[in-house]
Amino acid sequence: MQLRGKLYVVGIGPGSKDLLTLKAYEVIRNADVVIGHKRYIELIRDLVQGEIIESAMRKELERVKKAVELAKEKKVCLVSGGDPCIYGIASLLEEYIASNEIQVDYELIPGITALNAANSLLGCAVSGDHGVLSLSDQLVDWGKIEHRLRVMLRSDVPIAIYNPSSRKRVENLKKALEIIFSERGDVKIAIVKNAYREGEEVRIKKLSEINIEEVDMSSILIISSSETLVTEKKMLTPRGYSMKYEVGAKTKRAKEIAEQSAEILREAIPGDTLRDEIVRRAVMATGDMSYRDLLVFKGDPEQAVEALRRGAKIIVDVEMVRIGLRANAISAISFAKGSEKTRTAEGILNLAEEIEGAVVGIGNAPSSAMALCEVAENYKPAFIVATPVGFVGASESKEMVRKLDIPSITNVGTKGGSGVCTAILNCLIEHAGSH
Ligand code: SAH
Repeated sequence: MQLRGKLYVVGIGPGSKDLLTLKAYEVIRNADVVIGHKRYIELIRDLVQGEIIESAMRKELERVKKAVELAKEKKVCLVSGGDPCIYGIASLLEEYIASNEIQVDYELIPGITALNAANSLLGCAVSGDHGVLSLSDQLVDWGKIEHRLRVMLRSDVPIAIYNPSSRKRVENLKKALEIIFSERGDVKIAIVKNAYREGEEVRIKKLSEINIEEVDMSSILIISSSETLVTEKKMLTPRGYSMKYEVGAKTKRAKEIAEQSAEILREAIPGDTLRDEIVRRAVMATGDMSYRDLLVFKGDPEQAVEALRRGAKIIVDVEMVRIGLRANAISAISFAKGSEKTRTAEGILNLAEEIEGAVVGIGNAPSSAMALCEVAENYKPAFIVATPVGFVGASESKEMVRKLDIPSITNVGTKGGSGVCTAILNCLIEHAGSH
């Protein structure tokens, strides 16, 4: 039998009609029948000239069967929000047709997916490599979702989260936020609700400030990476153009100063080993040449680089160090619950298991360096950078670190602080990323 009809699976984009493709617009206008969930039909109702069949949310297979049946004779439009192939109905149609060897003339028409929509509102939260994940466990096991989330988090790319929460499924978001916190710390997260349709809202918050109830089925989340730049309303993960062009307005004078100071340092601390570079960075960060003699290397700093390349976590004592790093890290202070000890020391003890195999940086509190020595008896970090500062225990705590059977960089005496710790860690991080 000659088939006269045709089935179009049409992505209608995030909501606003001017974000329909021309093709989607024409197909909807000329369809004999338009089938879809009520939510989506509502967004295009006034374009439809043919019959409308609205269906319930969970009845996807019924909807597909009906559309295929009608498409034998009629021009049928099966509409889907965003893009029909991304968390949409198109894959169900493809599976149904393939496994039942159904003869039907059909075409998939792409649409702007929620990620594209949110991304434009945010200003390129995603501009290159990224992860995409749905928290809905209706079609995928929760165990798999958790595993995928961890893998994505470890690859330090921004991650878009579809279906973050529904009235029946708040638990998944809670669990996901805990995993994100344990891998990336208190990162900034964008919540984009109803992008390009009524009720549009863009919010950017620290993970710890998110109220589970403010995230619903109409929202998509974007989790920042260590390279993402965040302001109150904008999120930008640079694509890397600055490697190719002088994008920023670094003035000629600023460049001259940077070159001049690099030259002075090279003269004072010559050499091309990683150690030499670390010493130069410590001196640069502090303006204090005495670090040439104060830094103590135990073992080879390449061991830190190797650990970082293997994907080791970075754990630091305070936020000041975490914020300055060129990679994701978690700070112990966020894991303190309030006790007799200092907050950083308690955080380190609470993180004991995470410390195994991690690169640990202590920039501020001698007590956390001591707590680290206690933890290291059972959970060995891969490498330690410890430069706590001060007159109460700082010197002794670094000596304790040097006695551990673990490679480390420390400094002798009372000097130190977050700045020098961050500078050393960044040198290791950059070195790990440059091959
Ligand atoms: N096929 C759709 C996705 C359907 S899954 C697409 O390509 O966009 C439904 C999820 O998509 C929602 O829970 C939400 O996370 C996201 N979403 C869809 N439209 C959105 C919009 N306008 N604004 C924010 N999120 C949206």
